[in-house]
Amino acid sequence: MRIIWSLFLALMIVVGCSDATNVDQSFEHQGESNENNTVTDNNSAAERETKEQVTELENQDGAEKIIGPDFSGKEMTVHFIDVGQGDSILIVSPNNKTMLIDGGTKSAGNDVIQYLHSQNVKQLDYVVATHPDADHIGGLISVLNSISIKQFIDSGKVHTSATFEEMLGLIQEKNIPYTVPQKDDTIPLDKELEINVLNADGNASDNNDASIVLKVTYGEVSFLLTGDAGIEIEEEMLKSEDVSATILKAGHHGSNTSSSLNFIKAVGPKATILSYGQDNSYGHPHYEVIENLREVNSKIYGTAESGTIVVKTNGHSFNILADEWTGIGATSSISPPKSNNPTNSKAINKGTSEIAIINKDLKADTISIINSGSSSVNMSDWTLKSVEGNQTFEFPNFSLAPGEIIVITSGPDAKEGKGYLKWTNSSIWLNTGDPAQLLNPKGEIVSELP
Ligand SMILES: [Zn+2]
Repeated sequence: MRIIWSLFLALMIVVGCSDATNVDQSFEHQGESNENNTVTDNNSAAERETKEQVTELENQDGAEKIIGPDFSGKEMTVHFIDVGQGDSILIVSPNNKTMLIDGGTKSAGNDVIQYLHSQNVKQLDYVVATHPDADHIGGLISVLNSISIKQFIDSGKVHTSATFEEMLGLIQEKNIPYTVPQKDDTIPLDKELEINVLNADGNASDNNDASIVLKVTYGEVSFLLTGDAGIEIEEEMLKSEDVSATILKAGHHGSNTSSSLNFIKAVGPKATILSYGQDNSYGHPHYEVIENLREVNSKIYGTAESGTIVVKTNGHSFNILADEWTGIGATSSISPPKSNNPTNSKAINKGTSEIAIINKDLKADTISIINSGSSSVNMSDWTLKSVEGNQTFEFPNFSLAPGEIIVITSGPDAKEGKGYLKWTNSSIWLNTGDPAQLLNPKGEIVSELP
């Protein structure tokens, strides 16, 4: 029975996939007919006690931005709902249209429902399932069961999981219009927004790469929501799409399978949201992703630390109701530095020390040091030396845990806090030829970065 049901569903999807014209018409049609306001009040998120910092976008010469005749400057809010390890994003458009993108895991379903209630969302104009993985569609079961949905958008990627079958079953049972978008489709949620589909591939061999990627543009402010799309899909999008965006939801919860430096540079986000769960078993977010984001000076926010993150925008400026994320990312994906491993880092590590320099960032004026061993190391009496500048940093009394990286900061923007130790506000490493040396308590050089 189940097999027949699955076949029927698969057929239904294939039909949906192959008829792009119908899909487009359906999208257009749906948008025209949505005149009911689904939200009566969205102020409660604004009442949080978080320091508000409005970011005005610079007016760059030649920057062409869409300020159409319909542009009202009304507030739009984008809510990155804290669902633990997973994604769930609520868009409340300038004219109070609503779109929910993913719903986290099944166990997060109730949290999503409660959050929608807290925002007085009584019905959703669109629900998007970016791809059929459990940390994206699981919570949509609760949503389908308790909130009226006008239109359901799915990647078209068939998955054999019971959750996916349950989802499709509920969509059919409730007669919700169901569409599978094609790349370059637009979704008419609100006449003041442009929502472009930059990727959707029901035939992808990998669930993540099926991800519906959306770019939502309101005036001068845009959001790039990438699902779990991997680096190959990023490369494809770079070839044919304008991926630049003001705010990025980093792909795949900050995993290094997404967010290549190439892609991050092309997006050029002012702010990036990482949607992930505290102490997740994948080590998300990964160190390389954080490095790439810092390379382009993106501010970083994480749902694990901040809970639900609300971004408010009037189409000119934006305001993120959360504190910046200050971590350094997990190193589980980085193999321990070895002196004979040229692909890892250029550090020369001496003896058997498991404490080593892994990176010197001349631009940020920072040095990163890793503990690649299996036990904590107390760093008091260790020193970091700039050889040419002949300056020495003495580590405070703290322990570097196994796999942990500590970043020693210097220069005018030197940071302090979790994962960072501030040396000085003077610039240390900016004179490019200055080697860094790490010395153990005996004064022996254990690691050197030319
Ligand atoms: Zn995921």
